[in-house]
Amino acid sequence: SSSSNGGFFGHPKGLSTLFFTEMWERMSYYGMRALLVLFMTASLQEEGLGFTVASAAAIYGLYTGAVYFLGLPGGWLADRLFGGQKAVWYGGIIIMIGHIILAVPHDYSFFIGLIFVASGTGLLKPNISAMVGQLYSSEDERRDSGYAIYYMGINLGSIIGYYVCGYFMENVGWHWAFGAAAVGMGIGLIQYYLTTKHLPSHSAAPANPLTPKGIKNTWFGIAAFIATTAAVVIAATTGMITINPVVIAKYVAVAFTLIFFIYFGMIYFKGKLNEDEKRRMWALFLVCVASACFWSGFEQAGSSLNLFARDYTDRLVGSFEIPTAWFQSLNAIFIIVLSPFFAALWINLSKKMISPSYSVKCALGLIIMASGFLVMFMAAHYAAEGLKVAPYWLVTTYFLHTVGELCLSPVALSAVSRLSPQRFSGQMMGVFVLTYSIGNIIAGLLAGGFDPNKVEEIPALYLQISLFSIGIGIILVLLSFKAKFWEKRGLTATTTA
Ligand code: GLN
Repeated sequence: SSSSNGGFFGHPKGLSTLFFTEMWERMSYYGMRALLVLFMTASLQEEGLGFTVASAAAIYGLYTGAVYFLGLPGGWLADRLFGGQKAVWYGGIIIMIGHIILAVPHDYSFFIGLIFVASGTGLLKPNISAMVGQLYSSEDERRDSGYAIYYMGINLGSIIGYYVCGYFMENVGWHWAFGAAAVGMGIGLIQYYLTTKHLPSHSAAPANPLTPKGIKNTWFGIAAFIATTAAVVIAATTGMITINPVVIAKYVAVAFTLIFFIYFGMIYFKGKLNEDEKRRMWALFLVCVASACFWSGFEQAGSSLNLFARDYTDRLVGSFEIPTAWFQSLNAIFIIVLSPFFAALWINLSKKMISPSYSVKCALGLIIMASGFLVMFMAAHYAAEGLKVAPYWLVTTYFLHTVGELCLSPVALSAVSRLSPQRFSGQMMGVFVLTYSIGNIIAGLLAGGFDPNKVEEIPALYLQISLFSIGIGIILVLLSFKAKFWEKRGLTATTTA
């Protein structure tokens, strides 16, 4: 229940359940994701798939986009059919099956495995994030710090994934690395099974259950999804249709953005919301805009910043060459190191009765992330002159990106959990997770402008990204006097316990 204290760092015991489940899920997600482009571009002799860099990058963008897009149906299914607890359980099982399929070396298994992982993550990710918030009543001041702890679990998992899967890949082989991800998710599932009892009992049932007829239709829809996906996979693998991932990625970016507005609008206009709930939806809208812009810049870590590390960074230290991939784990390491300071910062501010609105914190996060790209703008100038820059340029950028992330990401999760209308909690988290999806795809498209043959154009690319994000950040700050009012707790505030 929400009043139980002292279970886990002074938080309800259920936080420990969700912390470790999400830690293992993220271990499997990031561990596998780190290998994905490398596996697709490795030659057939190296037992890879032999794809070109352009298709591999587009498939990567589509995959990460799809993972978070599927959070929309995943959130809906939890609100209406499964309840949060079962959604996470089934999602985890589907993810584990996906990694097992990836571990089996076979031509067709690759895309089928990815589809399983994406579908399972859609079912798990928004609902586990929503359940964190359900551990607290609406007056409970521990919610923000609960999300900050949960966010550490995410990044602890990603560090384990990078090192374990990276180790298996280099020393044993691709399929063992995919297998390691399956084992990680399996440990998470066992842990979840044994500790589900600590979760709030209302998350065992859907918040807004369907009628028997609705249940039947939903299962019909799930069957139709499976049949269509299977048909597309068969058609593509047998060469009946050819798929150009680069072209698809552009349309998908536009489509997902439209779907975001439509879904958000449907809940706002058709969700029978009262005045308080509508007011808070405006505050959430600002948070979502900030989030989509933020990830569009940030998620270039795996693409354009990764290439910058490989091609334009002097990675030699004495006779040791820093592997390019090591730069990828800087973000997660900075998160673990900086999180306690941020937790203390928000607590100190609130003791002084200073509580910046969610949207001001998000705007700050966006501007700090953008300043990381100003650093890259300067570094790219040297690269354009044909020099290799020192590693601390990228280290500084990743540091600023992480500081920005800590101002925005856990704060936004907490905002969505606190401000969403209760019976839409899973779906609103799904809508929010869709902003990750939009960000990931746009990041991929922006990184397409990173052309190693036109190095003189790279500084301008980074400057544009930076100025655009600063502009949005400033608009959000200007709107913040409104946001403070939109975020205010209403008279009809609902308690969860
Ligand atoms: N690192 C965070 C997570 O895995 C955010 C990911 C993202 O791309 N938005 O939850």
